[in-house]
Amino acid sequence: MEQNDIMEKIVSLCKRRGFIFPGSQIYGGLSGTWDFGPLGVELKKNIKKSWWRALVYQRDDIVGLDTSIIMNPSVWEASGHIQGFSDLLVDCKECKKRFREDIVKQTCPECKGALTQSKQFNLMFKTFVGSVEDSTSTVYLRPETAQGIFVNFKNILTTSRKKLPFGIAQYGKAFRNEITIGNFIFRSREFEQMELEFFVQPGEAQRWHQYWIQERLLWYQRLGIKKEHLIVRQHEKKELAHYAKDCYDIEYFFPMGPSELEGIANRTDFDLRQHSKISGNDLSLLDEKTNTKFFPYVIEPSGGVDRALLAFLIDAYSEEIVRGEKRVVLRLHPSLAPVKVAILPLLRNRPDIVELAKNIKNIFPGNYYVVYDDTGSIGRLYRRQDEIGTPYCVTVDVQSLEDKKITVRDRDTMQQERIHIENLKEYLDKKLE
Ligand code: ATP
Repeated sequence: MEQNDIMEKIVSLCKRRGFIFPGSQIYGGLSGTWDFGPLGVELKKNIKKSWWRALVYQRDDIVGLDTSIIMNPSVWEASGHIQGFSDLLVDCKECKKRFREDIVKQTCPECKGALTQSKQFNLMFKTFVGSVEDSTSTVYLRPETAQGIFVNFKNILTTSRKKLPFGIAQYGKAFRNEITIGNFIFRSREFEQMELEFFVQPGEAQRWHQYWIQERLLWYQRLGIKKEHLIVRQHEKKELAHYAKDCYDIEYFFPMGPSELEGIANRTDFDLRQHSKISGNDLSLLDEKTNTKFFPYVIEPSGGVDRALLAFLIDAYSEEIVRGEKRVVLRLHPSLAPVKVAILPLLRNRPDIVELAKNIKNIFPGNYYVVYDDTGSIGRLYRRQDEIGTPYCVTVDVQSLEDKKITVRDRDTMQQERIHIENLKEYLDKKLE
């Protein structure tokens, strides 16, 4: 399959099946915003759940947090975002369009007009708190979730009684007034991040940095992304963000070329030191051995939920010919699949079969998403479930009325197994574990 084709196919599948729609679509949209439909919201939730499970539930050295999107503006002064979170932009003198300097050559990519000198453009969205709209009430929508973690460092330390090395994990919305958006949900203006700030002794930062690069790579692989579709790239000195001493990107081979999925930075003690200085609250720790104060270093794996979602979709997408017909399958990892099980009646005009199928759905208490569908012929229903990545379909037929057995069909192998209804839940629970 051509690489460009695959993006088009994913965009169309997402729209057709209810994963992702353009934001505010009935008003002509708002560029850089996307809405997640019934399947998209499930996939997104499952990604965040898997991340949380791997970082918070399966370890003892990380706790979770959920902080405000709007913060005291001093936070962004201390973090350097007011001064330094900007892109160099150029304007086209002819068509007046604006571009990031690093992605254009000498002339405008749209009309070939001459470009202006570049100037800095801050990426933070501004708004106001309260009823007066002036500089004293200006606040920002957070461009990263990380600062909520740094300003709560002492709160977490005293309430969770953690000792170095330990981490704080948070996912949530972030906003950037990106100038060049595109490649579907790869770069948008409102997106979600999953960020871990892992606090370590300064002398151990390098070792933990390498550790987290490997951990994060394995996370993507465990959830089904092919190893050969991921690479790790170290940032050049000139690329480093103002707070970073060293940074590695985990890149995925997206159709437009290898691009960042997640950045893993050594933020040093920059943020804790800055917040101590600007807020006047000392965020340093005491080294009990030497009785001196020090600021921990921070290793930060920072990934995008939306970018991960796009990579998971692209990697899972496959087309094959089965009995002369094209079969589209999303081979999503079962823990990511939006729908885990679909219950399908073989004959939708037989009330007894329909009733049994609906009753079977009630066996599942809601631990995972199970749907009932009778809106097409069985062939069509299977195709629909394959296309949205449902790992198991359960089919109820005439025979089921007699022997209380149903057929479980595996999405990947298409193999079918006859299972007694009594054993179905346990059978699927085990498969989906
Ligand atoms: P890029 O170089 O692609 O603009 P970045 O280096 O600015 O990204 P970071 O500041 O490291 O990104 O943010 C961490 C993660 O947040 C990124 O790896 C990406 O997954 C996600 N992310 C950042 N900006 C966007 C965006 N505009 N849309 C979607 N996801 C984003």
